[in-house]
Amino acid sequence: MEQTLKKFKEYYKRMKQYEQAGTMLAWDMQTASPKDSVDSKIESLGFFSTEKFKLSTSEEYGQLLSELAKTENLSKLDDGMKLTIKRELRDYTRFKRVPEAFYTEFVTEKARSEHAWEEAKQKDDFSIYEPHLDKIISMTKEFVHYIEPEKDVYEVLLDMYEEGMDSHTIDTIFEELKEGLCPLIKKITSRPEPDLSVLNGKYDVLSQKRVQDLLLEYIGFNFDRGTTAESVHPFTITLCHGDVRITNSYDEEAPISSMFSAIHEGGHAIFEQNISDKYIGTAVEQINLMGLHESQSRFYENMLGRNKNFWIPVYDKITEIHPQLKKVPLDVFMQAVNVVRPSLIRVDADEVTYCMHIILRYEMEKAIFIDNIPTKDLPELWNKKMLELLGVRPKSDAEGIMQDMHWSDGSFGYFPSYLLGSIYDGMLLEQIEEELGSIDDILSKGKIKEITLWLNEKIHQYGSLYTSKEVLQRVCHKEISARPLLDYFTKKYN
Ligand code: ZN
Repeated sequence: MEQTLKKFKEYYKRMKQYEQAGTMLAWDMQTASPKDSVDSKIESLGFFSTEKFKLSTSEEYGQLLSELAKTENLSKLDDGMKLTIKRELRDYTRFKRVPEAFYTEFVTEKARSEHAWEEAKQKDDFSIYEPHLDKIISMTKEFVHYIEPEKDVYEVLLDMYEEGMDSHTIDTIFEELKEGLCPLIKKITSRPEPDLSVLNGKYDVLSQKRVQDLLLEYIGFNFDRGTTAESVHPFTITLCHGDVRITNSYDEEAPISSMFSAIHEGGHAIFEQNISDKYIGTAVEQINLMGLHESQSRFYENMLGRNKNFWIPVYDKITEIHPQLKKVPLDVFMQAVNVVRPSLIRVDADEVTYCMHIILRYEMEKAIFIDNIPTKDLPELWNKKMLELLGVRPKSDAEGIMQDMHWSDGSFGYFPSYLLGSIYDGMLLEQIEEELGSIDDILSKGKIKEITLWLNEKIHQYGSLYTSKEVLQRVCHKEISARPLLDYFTKKYN
């Protein structure tokens, strides 16, 4: 057993090293690479991922896993290693069931479909995308039949992005949320929109970066364990233990946008930066729970960042960096941060109507994978649902069904995790207030790091050791419910 475990650890480490080299290249390509170096880097990326693939599917690796997964061996391992063996064996077994020729075709079709989506969106012509989307849907179904022949396709897809989550649970909580939000959104929309013209102006990129660093430091991003850069879309990436990086993008006319992206990505990064050292070299560091991950970024972005008290201790410092804001009272700044209006595009949506954008996508995915609705009928179904849920109807498919890239590369089942994250946040907010007292007080006194410490201790240190359902049970001692999130919205916007 000792020898087998040692050998397994060597294997696993080698795979992680290939992965790290690939991640480093990917980071470089998205933040710094000159255009003409891209082809050569893609070739290297291909090399590292092939080498990792060979190791992860080798007979020897499979034997090591089955040996260690025997009950008498597994029981001797610590929590982190136990999880690693179980997860690796599951993936190994799944992968071995997929015919190589199918897999190669699937990967190639994903790339083709992504490309077709880009072109179709740009030309606003669904007919370019339709045959590819249709093929990606049928290939996804086939792929799931290979890896989990006994299970329902959509359940497997949901579980891929949020382990332990199922459509029955999601149906219940999304329905509860939908019923509560419909009248609230109508009520908010009937009020006049605030006049925010005082914010207009140019805010230079260098100053926006300084504000970003100030906010990151403020919420608890650890610059000894991470760094920042600029990219087209903001994202968070983990290179290895102790190196979690985030990016931001800047628009000279929209300084608030880069502030909130920084807070959001900062939340993701704080999670990854604080996984306990005792899980180094285990699968605990690989957080495959997208709902839980999103709950952390959205907690900082919405529950904290959209609260006026968050800004009280730092607003003066920010106006020193952006003198244009000196004429903008904090109350007006907050109005700008909390405008709620139904709109067509998910990524531009406010915290309230955002929920409806996700419920729509979840219902669409169920129509695709459970009701088997023909692909040609999907754009019209989308538009109908937009009208029903948000009261607005897209004039084109580019601002309708083709706005997100997720489906073009087969990421079905991913969308619900964004909203699950917010639902978890409602519960976490309630629990924090119960244990630490009023969030408003903590924030206004500049003690936000007390909240970060609480999250470090209750959630971050464990990485992906527990599923989200388990985390909420351990931390909040409750089943998942949308009620706390609804209470938060009602209290804030009613
Ligand atoms: Zn995110």
